[in-house]
Amino acid sequence: MSPVIQQAALDHLGIDARYEAWPVPPEGLAGKVEGLRAPDVLGASVTVPHKEAVMPLLDSLDDWAREVGAVNTIVNRDGKLVGHNTDGYGFMQGLREAGFDPSGARALILGAGGAARGVVLALAYSDVNSIAIANRTIKRAERLLRDVGLIVPHLKCLPMDATVLAAEALSCDLIVNCTSLGMKHSPQENETPLRAEHIPQSCLAYDLVYNPLQTPFLREAKKAGARTMGGLTMLVHQGVAAFKLWTGRDAPADVMMKAGLSALAGT
Ligand code: NAP
Repeated sequence: MSPVIQQAALDHLGIDARYEAWPVPPEGLAGKVEGLRAPDVLGASVTVPHKEAVMPLLDSLDDWAREVGAVNTIVNRDGKLVGHNTDGYGFMQGLREAGFDPSGARALILGAGGAARGVVLALAYSDVNSIAIANRTIKRAERLLRDVGLIVPHLKCLPMDATVLAAEALSCDLIVNCTSLGMKHSPQENETPLRAEHIPQSCLAYDLVYNPLQTPFLREAKKAGARTMGGLTMLVHQGVAAFKLWTGRDAPADVMMKAGLSALAGT
C-alpha cells in the first residue's frame, strides 16, 4: 500500500519523484541498500523481513530506531544513509484520531514482532499504567518485555492462549492486535485473536492490520460495542513522517488516506 499512498502525496505536491516497490531477497539486501546512496535517491521504506537486518548496513541511526531495534525509513543525506523508525509515531497518531488518551491506561498487546516493538515502546513513553504482551512464541514477548522493563511499572508476558487472553482482556482499556491474524490473502485471513464476549465495551480495539479495512478482530470489537481503530491510519501517518524526512515537506495526510481507501476497496 505504501507505493499508492506515497505516490499520491508526491503527485499532489508536484514533486518529480517515483516511489517504487522492490521485492528484495535477504541475499540482495546489501546491494540494494548500497544503491540508495546515489544522488537522485531520496531514501527508502523498509518492511518485513528486513527491518532489523538493514541496520548494520546504514551509516547512522536516530535514537528512536536504535531504541526500537528496527528501521522502517532510510534517508539518503548526501550519500550517507540514516535509519529512522516512524511506526511508533504512526501508531500514536491513530490513538489521537480515536480520541484515546493512553496515560494511565491498561494495555494488552497481541504479538511481539517488529510492529509490536514500536507500539510497546511508544506506549511505554506515554505514561500507561500497565502493558501485557501476549505472543505465540513466548520468548519473543519476554525479550520485548525486558527491553521496556525500566520504563513501565506493571508489565507481564502471556501465552497466546484463548482462556488467558479472555481473562486479561476484560480489565483492559486498550487492546492492540500486532499479529498478522486477519490479514487478507494469508492463511489466517478469517482469524481473530479475541471474540466479542471477551472484549470490554469500554475499551479501544486497535488493529494494525489494514487489509481488509474491517478485520475479523474489529468486527468482533464492534459486536462487543467497543470503539475501534483500523491500521490504515497508522500506515498513513508513519508514511507522513517518512515523507517529511525524505522531502522536508508536510505530507497531505488526507490525500494519502483517500488513495489508500480507494486502493483497498479494489483489492
Ligand atoms: P512480524 O515481525 O513478522 O511479526 C508477526 C507477529 O504475528 C508475531 O508476533 C507472530 O508471532 C504473530 N503471528 C503470526 N502468525 C500467527 C499465528 N498464526 N498465530 C498467532 N500469532 C501469529 O510482523 P510485523 O512487522 O510485526 O507485522 C505484524 C502485523 O502488523 C502485520 O499484519 C503487518 O501488516 C501489520 N503492520 C501494520 C503497520 C501499519 O502501519 N498499520 C505497520 C507495521 C506492521 P510469533 O512471534 O510467534 O511468530
